[in-house]
Amino acid sequence: MQRKKEIYGLIGFPLGHSFSQTYFNQKFESEGIDASYENFEIEDIGELMEIFAEFPELCGLNVTIPYKQQVIPYMNEMDETAAKIGAVNVIKIIRKKDGDFKLKGYNSDIIGFSDSIAPLLKPHHQKALVLGTGGASKAIMLGLKNLGLEPVLVSRTAREGVLTYADLDKAVMDTHTVIVNTTPVGMYPNVDDCPDIPYNLLTDRHLCYDLIYNPDVTAFMRKSQEAGAEVKNGLEMLLLQAFASWQIWNS
Ligand code: NAP
Repeated sequence: MQRKKEIYGLIGFPLGHSFSQTYFNQKFESEGIDASYENFEIEDIGELMEIFAEFPELCGLNVTIPYKQQVIPYMNEMDETAAKIGAVNVIKIIRKKDGDFKLKGYNSDIIGFSDSIAPLLKPHHQKALVLGTGGASKAIMLGLKNLGLEPVLVSRTAREGVLTYADLDKAVMDTHTVIVNTTPVGMYPNVDDCPDIPYNLLTDRHLCYDLIYNPDVTAFMRKSQEAGAEVKNGLEMLLLQAFASWQIWNS
């Protein structure tokens, strides 16, 4: 690695090709910023502190699967929203003069999601279904609540306070006019798969948002669009969360 003045990076496992690395290195190149963005593929979160020791130029980190929750015990401070969500995908490294540093955890997924869905919301969008109950769903639930909606989780497993796919009858579908897919169902290469919702009950009052961005148009989006719903994929969310990460590191 050619050492630059500043280093930013992503921790996760496995990483392979990462959107963030391409996005930030293109940004640094086009804006003449003396920095590089590196992928740190670590097999265990215990390796996190070794990265800080090896790279004193490190200014900020993004965090992806499976470490968004596991990094929390390493944070000296948590942003209020990240603490409420219980997931960190941005770490700001606050360095002191004596070489010591502090870590503060943030969540930019909620910013990316909220900023990208807000312009599409209409007065009749009062209630929402959030498909999937994994890491991403927590940021989406809080984002929708902050935007004034009443979201409910939909899971394959029945439990208190959560709907199952079998519960999605006409009454539920008529009132819940925003549907957000936070499951990985339909992601490349499984492009013909889609969440098991009654697409025939969708109307032109529905807004169907998929966190997936590869493929551009998922089967969930295609079937929703065919039923008259407005659709959006997760690309803008991805771009906006990266933009928000940069603002956090430089604030
Ligand atoms: P995750 O934790 O692996 O899974 C999310 C949830 O989806 C699971 O908890 C599960 O909920 C449900 N699920 C998993 N496999 C399923 C299946 N075969 N059928 C039906 N439901 C299934 O993933 P995540 O970290 O929350 O991320 C979810 C998706 O969001 C991924 O595709 C990720 O790439 C995307 N994402 C996009 C952005 C962006 O910026 N656009 C940001 C973050 C995440 P139940 O067991 O309760 O059904």
